[in-house]
Amino acid sequence: MQTQTIEDYLKAIYELGREDPGEKLTTTALAERLGVSPATVTGTLKKLARLRLVVHKPYRGVELTDAGRKIALEVIRHHRLIELYLQQALGVPWDRVHEEAEKWEHVLSEELEDRIDALLGHPTQDPHGAPIPARDGTIAQPECVRLSELAPGQTAVIAEVSDHDPELLRYLGERGLYPNVSIELIAKEPFGGPLTVRVGRQGREWALGPEAARHVFVTEVVQEGGPSHEAEKE
Ligand SMILES: [Zn+2]
Repeated sequence: MQTQTIEDYLKAIYELGREDPGEKLTTTALAERLGVSPATVTGTLKKLARLRLVVHKPYRGVELTDAGRKIALEVIRHHRLIELYLQQALGVPWDRVHEEAEKWEHVLSEELEDRIDALLGHPTQDPHGAPIPARDGTIAQPECVRLSELAPGQTAVIAEVSDHDPELLRYLGERGLYPNVSIELIAKEPFGGPLTVRVGRQGREWALGPEAARHVFVTEVVQEGGPSHEAEKE
């Protein structure tokens, strides 16, 4: 099996587990993320299990072993450092860095990784707000909820946006929805209708599609009249 295939699978398993914590990670979801057939995924997962990089757990689906998680985080570190380097050093827009990083992440040497890290001042967040794992494989992952899960009247701070769809990133960028920007949910139409949000303190109001709001992760939820513990419930 190619190193790139192994790395892509481990990374996808890590990311899907992060996006829906506590939910069973299915072959179908993995196939969708990787753009291959479920049969291919099943075959590859067997090989990864033999290499002791993943395990199958009843009711939980596929999970990374410690060895698998270590490799996943190393590739993710490469990916996120490259994205930030492309944006900050080369001026590549935030909707285009992901695709480039998908290729570079597999070939980046440890020496270049260190140089990029030092040049950028040992950053902790990529352009989409995702935490960059440290060199020792640790990662500071804040507790987040989806913007679509907020209740009207709640204010939060954008922690991270999903980086996989350039069109979505342009849509969010046009509305000012960047990491570390504060956002208030003003209203939410029932039956999957649009959300009305205020972007930035005393900023502009926007209608937001519910599917877009599902891909924006927020933290530090503050409710009117005091802090709420919504974000800690999970
Ligand atoms: Zn990316």
